[in-house]
Amino acid sequence: MTPTSLRIAAAAALATALLSAQAPGRQKRSVTDAEVQRVHKSTLLLDAHNDVTSATVAGMDIGKSNPDHMTDIPRMKAGGMGAQIFAVYVSGSYVEGNHAANRTLQMIDTVRHDIIAMHPNDFMFAGTVADIRRAHSQHKIAALLGIEGGHSIEDSPRLLRDFYDLGVRYMTLTHSNSNHWADSSGDTNKPNNGLSPLGKEIVAEMNRIGMIVDISHVSDKTFYDALEVSKAPIFASHSSCRALSPAPRNMTDEMIAALGKKHGVVQINFACDFLNPDVFAENEKTRASTVQLRDELMKKYATDPDGLQKAFRESRTAAGATKRATLADVVKHINHVVQIAGIDSVGLGSDFDGIDCAPEGLDSVDKWPNLTKALLEEGYTAADIRKIYGENFLRVLSEVERVSKSSH
Ligand SMILES: [Zn+2]
Repeated sequence: MTPTSLRIAAAAALATALLSAQAPGRQKRSVTDAEVQRVHKSTLLLDAHNDVTSATVAGMDIGKSNPDHMTDIPRMKAGGMGAQIFAVYVSGSYVEGNHAANRTLQMIDTVRHDIIAMHPNDFMFAGTVADIRRAHSQHKIAALLGIEGGHSIEDSPRLLRDFYDLGVRYMTLTHSNSNHWADSSGDTNKPNNGLSPLGKEIVAEMNRIGMIVDISHVSDKTFYDALEVSKAPIFASHSSCRALSPAPRNMTDEMIAALGKKHGVVQINFACDFLNPDVFAENEKTRASTVQLRDELMKKYATDPDGLQKAFRESRTAAGATKRATLADVVKHINHVVQIAGIDSVGLGSDFDGIDCAPEGLDSVDKWPNLTKALLEEGYTAADIRKIYGENFLRVLSEVERVSKSSH
């Protein structure tokens, strides 16, 4: 780019950022607590990504209140949650020695056994839109499973089908590591130039069996390849907007617009550095040493999930982190997606218990009503909020179900 075109691009980016501070076409107003409660209760609040499973698999009881974590049943109930997609997260380190599928099965088991089966009065397994609505009508939290990291299937469509049969309804095509068929945004090694021929076959098989294609974590090229190949809408289970904070796995405005055109949804991630550019800049200074330290801590505290959370928090403070995102940043990201792709294209994917900094005012699963209040104050209607909180995701899942049924 020439210096002039750079300046024009910078001015355009700034104008976009300023505009997105306001909800498009909506008027700010004051609201009462009674209205907040009434609207909040009218939603089916679905969070598309929660990593408390990394703690439950190591022995944490989600049924007991546990302030060392962001998630437990008493706070999920206080927050008025209707559905939670639990992350079946498998670190890329399990690829070595082919342990990824084994770990995936253990993570599926912690959702099905430790979370759902051990707490039948609170959770109900859900594999379809109808299941989610049924759980909600019975005042239980619908519990769904999403695999995070395509290396889980060890390059085998057979394992993909097995995991579907065990209840998995989305798969993030990569984690921070590129695999043998899809490139990641978090890996300098990009051997597939997006999706390889096998990667395209895997997306087609996901369409056929009815599993949602998740593009959080993938490289930009993988995103565009998946969007082109998939016959059903795809989604980002936990990503935010790159125009507002330059985290490489946030989505550009072009990606958000393209996703919206194909009826997909961006579920906003609450990591402080994904939400706020000042936090991102601060984290960048210590990123290399923090990543190494986190790996060491995860090994050291492999069977002590509470100790691990404490150590994570202490390491963040020790690294000199002073800044934090706020609830207002979350609203800005929602506004931004609405402005680019419309109210049908945005949802929630907190990443609670997978992030070590969550925004002030929205830092655990009981705080959701604060977001309802902020969105009402921003001028969003109850119908808008119901879309953001769950109806947009449910539309994607029902479309994925329809494509699957029509291809058998
Ligand atoms: Zn993630």
